[in-house]
Amino acid sequence: MEFFKPLSTNTNESQPKNNSEIEQTKCLIIGSGPAGYTAAIYAARANLKPILYEGLQPGGQLTTTTEVDNFPGYPEGVTGPVLMENLKQQALRFGTDIRSGYATSVDFSKQLHTVVIDNEKTIQSPAVIIATGATAKYLGLESENKYKGLGVSGCATCDGFFYRNQDVAVVGGGDTAAEEATYLAGIARKVYLIIRKDYMRASKPMQERVAKTKNIEILYEHQTKEILGDENGVHGALLIKKGKEEVKIDISGFFLAIGHTPNTVVFKDFLKLDETGYIITTPGTSKTNIQGVFACGDVQDPHYRQAITAAGSGCIAALDAERYLGNL
Ligand code: NDP
Repeated sequence: MEFFKPLSTNTNESQPKNNSEIEQTKCLIIGSGPAGYTAAIYAARANLKPILYEGLQPGGQLTTTTEVDNFPGYPEGVTGPVLMENLKQQALRFGTDIRSGYATSVDFSKQLHTVVIDNEKTIQSPAVIIATGATAKYLGLESENKYKGLGVSGCATCDGFFYRNQDVAVVGGGDTAAEEATYLAGIARKVYLIIRKDYMRASKPMQERVAKTKNIEILYEHQTKEILGDENGVHGALLIKKGKEEVKIDISGFFLAIGHTPNTVVFKDFLKLDETGYIITTPGTSKTNIQGVFACGDVQDPHYRQAITAAGSGCIAALDAERYLGNL
C-alpha cells in the first residue's frame, strides 16, 4: 500500500521548503538514547531511510553519567557521552537523518501517523518508533543538582562500581531502592537506605533481602535536607529525622531511587500505558496497541532500564517496523 510519495534518496531533497509543509517519510524515530540510535542503525541498514528526532536530551540519560563499564564491546569502559556519540556516528554512517527537535503532539488515529515537532513542523510516517526513554526522579535540591555526576547518581548499576569500600546512601523505599541498596552493598562498605516513611513500600521478598544484608542500615522517617560536598564531590548528607532532628552522615555516593517517569505524556491519548505511564508492548516484541507504532527502550521497560537492554529493544523495534512496512 502506498502511504506516501516516493522520496528522493538524497535526504536533503526530502526536506520541506518551509515549516508549514507536511513532510513524509518511511520510518520516523523519536528519541536518541541507545534504543533510538540502535533502531536507527538497523532501520538505515534496511534502507528505510529513517529520520530521527533527538528529543529534549540528545543522547539520553547516559549523557549524564560518567564511566560506563557494562556496555559489551568496551573492555576498558567508555564514558556515557562518548558511547552515545559513537552510536550516533554509527547511525549517521548508514544514512540516518538525525535532527534536533522533540515531538509535541501526535495523531496515531490513521494508518499514516502524524507527529508534530516543536509545535511547528508536521511529519507523517506509516512506521513510528518511540524511544523517548524515562527520566529518573530527583528530590529537587540545589545541592543535588550541583553534585550530579560528582557523587549524585540516579543509577546504581551504572555508577555503583566507583564506590568500592566506600560509604554510600540510597534514597527511596520501593523495589528499585531495595534492589539498588542490595546491589551497592556488594560493592560499598556501608549503605544507608533513607526512607521517608516508617515502612518500606518494596515487596516482601525485596524487604527480606535488605534485612538480610548486614551492611545496609535503614534510616526510617528520614528526609534529605542537603547533600554536602566540595570540588572533589560528595562527602556527606544532612538528613532530618522525624521532621525535627538533624542527622549528618558521611558518604561519598548519593543514589536516587525514588522512581522514574516515562516520557509518554504526548502519546497518552493513543497508546495503552500501564498504571505508571510506561507504554505497553506485546511481550517479546516492540508492538504497541496501534499498528505501525513501535516502542523500545526505557519508555516501555520499568524493570531492566540498562543501556544494553534498551539497545537490544531498539533492534527489535527496527526489525518489527521493517516487517510491518514490508507487509503493507
Ligand atoms: P516506587 O514508586 O515503587 O517507589 C518510589 C519510592 O521512592 C517510594 O518509597 C517513595 O516513598 C519514595 N519517594 C518518592 N518521592 C520521594 C521523595 N521526594 N523523597 C523521598 N522518597 C521519595 O518506584 P520504584 O522505582 O521503586 O518502582 C517502580 C515500579 O517498578 C514498581 O511497580 C516496582 O515494583 C517495579 N520494580 C520491580 C522490580 C523487581 O520486580 N525486581 C525492581 C524495580 C522496580 P513513599 O513510599 O513514601 O511514597
